[in-house]
Amino acid sequence: MKQKLKLTAFALAIVFFVSCGDTQNKENDKKEAINKTEDIKQDAPKKDCNDVHWSHHKGNEGPENWKNLCDGFSDCGGNSQSPINIITKNVITGEELQSPVFSYGESKVDIINNGHTVQFNVDGGNSVNLDGKDYQLLQFHYHTLSEHTVDGKYFPAEVHFVHKHSDTDFAVLAEFIVEGKENPLFSKYLDKFPADKGEFKSDNMIDLLSLLPENKSYYFYTGSLTTPPCSEVVSWYVFKNPVEASAEQISKISKILDDNYRPVQDLNGRSVEFYNEREK
Ligand SMILES: [Zn+2]
Repeated sequence: MKQKLKLTAFALAIVFFVSCGDTQNKENDKKEAINKTEDIKQDAPKKDCNDVHWSHHKGNEGPENWKNLCDGFSDCGGNSQSPINIITKNVITGEELQSPVFSYGESKVDIINNGHTVQFNVDGGNSVNLDGKDYQLLQFHYHTLSEHTVDGKYFPAEVHFVHKHSDTDFAVLAEFIVEGKENPLFSKYLDKFPADKGEFKSDNMIDLLSLLPENKSYYFYTGSLTTPPCSEVVSWYVFKNPVEASAEQISKISKILDDNYRPVQDLNGRSVEFYNEREK
C-alpha cells in the first residue's frame, strides 16, 4: 500500500536541512562528472547545487522556483510533494495502520540554527517502529506557521521528528502547536535558541516521549522533504492532536523562524489515511 515513489540518485546523498551548499559536494561532483559526458548534446549546461541559496520567502530563491535553482532540486517540482492540505472529509480509514511503537529515551541537547530552521540533534538509540520497520530518530525541528494545514487552516507552528530507516526510506512524525499553556521544552530552551546561524550545546537530557501528544491518532500519506532537495522518500505521520505553547512563546519562536514554511502542494491523486487511537 505504501508506495515508495520515484527516487533520484540524489536521495542517496540526502542530508536534511543543511545550510546552503555545505555538504553534498561529493555526490554533486560525481553527478557533475556523469553529466559532463551526458550533456554534450544538450544546449544548457546542468547546474549543480553547490553554493545554491534557497529561501522560504517569495522571490527568485523562493519555493515556487526551488525546482529550477539547480539540477539536484528538480524533485521540488515532482508529483508527490509535501506539505499538503489535509481535507478531513476525504480522509480514508487506514485499515492496516498501527499505533507507532516508540523506543525513545532521553537525549542530550544540541540546538542548531542552520539558517532555515532551529533543530535539535539527538543522540542515536531512539527509534520508532512503523509498519513493522524500525526508524532511527535523527533530529527534530520547527516551522512557523505550520506546513501542513487541516481543512485549509494553519496552526501557529509545526514540529518535525525526522526518522530514517534507509537512504530511501524516511518517516517524519509531525505535530502541530496551538496557543495554550506554556510548553515545558520552550520554557527550558527557548532563550537558548540561536537567533542567527549558530549552536547551543548542553548536557541536560530531554525526555523525548514527553514532547509528543498523549493520543497518537495520526494522518498518513507518502510525500517528500519540505525543503530542497525535496526528495520523495518520506512517509508522513501527522498527529491529529496538537501540543500547546503560550502566546509569548509562539511569538518568540515565530520571530526567530520568520515564516519558514513551504506552501501546501497538490495531492495529485494521493490518498490520506487516518489511524484513530482510541482513548484509553
Ligand atoms: Zn520540517
